[in-house]
Amino acid sequence: MYDFIIIGGGMSGLSAAMYGTRLGLKTLTLAEVPGGLITTTHLVENWPGIKSISGPDLAMSLYEHAVESGTEMKNEKAQKIEKLDDKDGFTQFKVSTMSGEYTGKSILIATGTKHKKLGVPGEAEFENKGVSYCALCDGAFYKEKNVCIVGGGDSAAKEAIFLSEHVKKVYMIVRRDVLRAEPINAKRIEQNDKIEILYQTQIEEIKGTKGVEKVKFIEGTEGKYSGQELEMDGVFMAIGHDAQTELAKDVGVELNERREIKINRRTETNVKGIFAAGDCCDTEFKQAITGSAEGVTASYYAYHLCTTDPSF
Ligand code: NAP
Repeated sequence: MYDFIIIGGGMSGLSAAMYGTRLGLKTLTLAEVPGGLITTTHLVENWPGIKSISGPDLAMSLYEHAVESGTEMKNEKAQKIEKLDDKDGFTQFKVSTMSGEYTGKSILIATGTKHKKLGVPGEAEFENKGVSYCALCDGAFYKEKNVCIVGGGDSAAKEAIFLSEHVKKVYMIVRRDVLRAEPINAKRIEQNDKIEILYQTQIEEIKGTKGVEKVKFIEGTEGKYSGQELEMDGVFMAIGHDAQTELAKDVGVELNERREIKINRRTETNVKGIFAAGDCCDTEFKQAITGSAEGVTASYYAYHLCTTDPSF
């Protein structure tokens, strides 16, 4: 019987694991591949106290911190959470993976998000053959080539800057007439000769034979290449994320209209004993530091819950 079972090994889950074990909770962390979304970020420049660090390095240092603090780490994907009958006044949960079943007094769901797909012809056909969802992973394959990145948010901006260090030219395909990126990144883009922003532009189709060769833009917009085709060697997508909340929903956790988990200031869900943290929640700021703080908050309230248990 664990005190605290953490599902997810991103910044939120690992922060909760580190704090939870330090508080004396018997903690299990289930993470098929620890690290989470931040491992796809080239540079993190807003983690307090660290001016600049790569996403993978930040994730690795937190992973090591959590493991050294004493969390039990299993590289397993949680497939189901079940609420068991109360015992001695305490709710108990069972979490199943392909390899085992684990029971716990409290659960943290920190399952993050997955990349949104654009849903245009050619996207699925050329995935990993020119279509990528991770500039950090694939950018270096496009030396001296022309690529585009779809999206006008902070991820797209940061990835465009990263890509410009490797490729000949980056087109940023933005459907609005403004960027939604942090001002500091928008300014860096303006000053970068290798990046051209195509505002009010949307891709209609990605074309090619063995790999991506062209993109065709939707006609009838104000965009520079409206209705035209542009030669392109790679298409990167950064159009946001969808919360991964199937596990939560199946155990009765309430979601909002965007399928994000509803939490309160204590990171509690509507199911007593189940907490949630990070990008899978209905919180406004999807930042590593806010997700991490939510994980820490969850570990404190899990501790409160468990310490009222006479067997703790
Ligand atoms: P986002 O802020 O949701 O931006 C998504 C972008 O993609 C928007 O420009 C959006 O356009 C566009 N888009 C969405 N669907 C589209 C479609 N079907 N076709 C064309 N364009 C489409 O997502 P994000 O950039 O991944 O950022 C998510 C959160 O993570 C934000 O809170 C961000 O601040 C945070 N973040 C933080 C860091 C960090 O280092 N701290 C790094 C990256 C991201 P519209 O504007 O028209 O909707």
